[in-house]
Amino acid sequence: MTMQLQLIPPQYTVQSPEMLEAYRKRGGYSALEQVLGRNDRKWMLDEVKRSGLSGRGGAGFSAAMKWSFMPAEPSGPSYLCVNADESEPGTFKDRHLMERVPHLVLEGIILAAWAMRAERAFILLRYEYPNCRRILQQAIDEAREAGLLGQGLMGTDWSLEVVIRLGAGTYISGEEMALLETVEGNRAWPRQKPPFPAQRGVFGRPTTVNNVETLACVPLVIAAGVDEFAAMGSGKSTGPKLYCVSGHVKRPGLYEAPMTVTLKELIYDPRFGGGIRGDRVLKAVIPGGSSAPVLRPDEIDVPANFESLAKIGSMLGSAAIIVMDETVCMVRAAQNTAHFFDHETCGECTPCREGCHWMRQILDRIENGRGMEGDIDLMSDRLAAIEGQTICPFGEAVTWGLGSIVEKFRDEFQEHIRLGRCKYEAWQPAKEQMA
Ligand code: SF4
Repeated sequence: MTMQLQLIPPQYTVQSPEMLEAYRKRGGYSALEQVLGRNDRKWMLDEVKRSGLSGRGGAGFSAAMKWSFMPAEPSGPSYLCVNADESEPGTFKDRHLMERVPHLVLEGIILAAWAMRAERAFILLRYEYPNCRRILQQAIDEAREAGLLGQGLMGTDWSLEVVIRLGAGTYISGEEMALLETVEGNRAWPRQKPPFPAQRGVFGRPTTVNNVETLACVPLVIAAGVDEFAAMGSGKSTGPKLYCVSGHVKRPGLYEAPMTVTLKELIYDPRFGGGIRGDRVLKAVIPGGSSAPVLRPDEIDVPANFESLAKIGSMLGSAAIIVMDETVCMVRAAQNTAHFFDHETCGECTPCREGCHWMRQILDRIENGRGMEGDIDLMSDRLAAIEGQTICPFGEAVTWGLGSIVEKFRDEFQEHIRLGRCKYEAWQPAKEQMA
């Protein structure tokens, strides 16, 4: 049976995941059989390259290119790390993949590990996802029992073990270089690059880090067909994509669509978000998690893909689309984001650690009616001191996310300072929640 070009068939739910027998019935593990039967790693790399598959974790880097950085003839063990530490605010796509179609994820892991000659795959799973852990472990056990994992899997001379490691409940554990430390059991402090993971990763060995959704696409590329995958979209935005739509829409949820879908459709179309709750007016949209620059309503009629969002100065990121209606105070939104960053900075570099705290303090006083003349310029100055001065991309995330709110909604910040209060107070949740 040929697999459909779909990540999550709707019949599989969190309560009723697709386990091995059902997955095999719809063509599951046929991609692995095909790849191992050919026994040609170059062919597989070429196929994934031709499909245009880009990383779904945030950066949108070519999956095949990333794999090609691994040594062709390793002199010892190499590893694949699966980034399942989904912590970006508004993001819940990987959880659904692991809970609803665990074998699709697992087949993707096995295929990627084979392409890179990895002998062990570590799934760095978010600590707060105990249900995922249970279902994934069940799928791993089923696969091992069926000879799809372990020593000499499927009659080959290659062996692979898949191990689940838990994150420490921190946002930064999902950063590529901090993830390596976390897998080793250390504090999640990002390592400086170079060396890059493919040169020196987990336990000092060549390693590649891939996001869960990226890996779940790999069986589809092989089983459903490269041409079909590449034809769904264009450029680096090919294949099916999961979108997490949250905030003030009528139908918040997880939606699968080709990357030709527009942000406007994802928010207003009855098949997706269904419009703004209470038929209020849209005020702002964050298209890719809290690190992505915010968009105004006149900027959303654009395809929700890597290239189009980059062209208008934002990014697809983790495809967490956070919708804010007219009741939202943008100073409060920035304050909320600053509290998050201040809480989650690992503190390893001074510009990020101090800058996040400084931003939080300035935003607290503006929102609480104690803003001062010059506070807006002071914020821009502090953000400029972070960008490009840090070990990991968290610094850029702070700058882009917060900086865009301050820049695009400057009039609201000025009004707060001038009035000495927030005029949206009646619509807001209790202040104690921000304490
Ligand atoms: Fe830590 Fe921030 Fe520096 Fe990243 S940028 S290493 S989160 S202090």
